[in-house]
Amino acid sequence: MNFELDDVQTLVRDTARRFAQEEVAPLAAEMDKTATFRMELVKQMGELGFMGVAIPEQYGGGGMDYRCYSIVVEELSAVCASTGVVVSAHSSLCCDPIYRFGTEEQKKKYLVPLASGQMLGCLGLTEPQAGTDAGAVRTTAVLDGDEWVLNGTKIFITNGGQAGVAVVIASTDRSAKHRGLSAFIVPADAPGYKVAKEEHKLGIRASSTAELVFEDCRIPKENLLGRPGEGFKIAMQTLDGGRIGIASQAVGIARGAMEQAIAYAKERQQFGQPIANFQAIQWKLADMATEIDAARLLTWRAAWMKDQGFKNYSREAAMAKLFASDVAMKATREAVQVFGGYGYIDEYPVERYYRDAKITEIYEGTSEVQRMVISRALLRD
Ligand SMILES: Cc1cc2nc3c(=O)[nH]c(=O)nc-3n(C[C@H](O)[C@H](O)[C@H](O)COP(=O)(O)OP(=O)(O)OC[C@H]3O[C@@H](n4cnc5c(N)ncnc54)[C@H](O)[C@@H]3O)c2cc1C
Repeated sequence: MNFELDDVQTLVRDTARRFAQEEVAPLAAEMDKTATFRMELVKQMGELGFMGVAIPEQYGGGGMDYRCYSIVVEELSAVCASTGVVVSAHSSLCCDPIYRFGTEEQKKKYLVPLASGQMLGCLGLTEPQAGTDAGAVRTTAVLDGDEWVLNGTKIFITNGGQAGVAVVIASTDRSAKHRGLSAFIVPADAPGYKVAKEEHKLGIRASSTAELVFEDCRIPKENLLGRPGEGFKIAMQTLDGGRIGIASQAVGIARGAMEQAIAYAKERQQFGQPIANFQAIQWKLADMATEIDAARLLTWRAAWMKDQGFKNYSREAAMAKLFASDVAMKATREAVQVFGGYGYIDEYPVERYYRDAKITEIYEGTSEVQRMVISRALLRD
């Protein structure tokens, strides 16, 4: 693995950084306060290739590698973690499974508009009784002539409120438990598809987290993604890729908080000098920088493995997410500390970073789950 960015990766980083600072940063505080995402950003990011960074150009994407995807999510998250997860959930959890498991027709019909940013996508896996125990999904899909009929409820779905398409995991054979799960491409305008509720959250408040209800929701027979019974496998492999996105989000949040802390430490005067002169502050910044670099390297290793076509990179993706989310928690906590009282009020953005960081330890598998994935791999080897 090369530590240096190549020309394409450098260009992507510079473009994403400029876009994040010029277009996203000015909206971030307001989007957080109003808990509303500005959908025009999706269109703009689509034009830059950011809504399908690692999807080939023939399917509407940017045709770049997974490291570029990681870079884009980090840059967006460094100014607005909500924008970071809108892109990450859309790309990793909806575009990627359609690209990897979809038919040519499915890719033309759904992936092209998704990856080009004409519409947003989401993944519906979690249910009220099926969180960490994802195999306990109760939503059913029954074949009726030329249509699948879906019934059930999905909760906590990122982008759920605005998505034009959802990849939905449902049971096609209850007796086979997780081996009886299948994946479906469900357009939001399908009859019986309802956005039932929007959640109010601690952080990433601008990103939609919705409950989706399927009541005799009818979709064409050809919207089965992969083969019947492959749903659990598709979901787990999708989450491996997704964890690289969330690790990148965590690195971005941590870096954004550190940059705010550095600027403030140089400017804030106490005892007649900038607080940056105090060793207590300097050590916090040094620890942040070191841990952020380590988190990014773990994340890039997992991205590199995905780019190289490694069959299994679950352990490395889990390590990246576990470590990066921990770093995001620590870096944002210390950034608030560097700001003192001002860090606790919303005049400065670090309190938002602190609230945003927490979710990286929870979604796409909690930190406990990442430890389970890593330890299973250790004990199997
Ligand atoms: C903002 C947000 C966005 C989300 N986006 C999506 C999305 O887009 N699509 C989607 O499908 N889901 C999404 N989720 C769901 C998310 O992935 C789940 O919340 C997460 O996997 C945990 O499931 P749970 O909430 O049911 O917690 P539970 O599974 O009830 O876990 C509760 C606690 O018990 C621990 N625990 C559970 N089982 C074990 C075990 N075997 N060993 C040790 N500890 C265990 C967990 O680590 C956790 O600490 C989102 C959630 C949130 C909050």
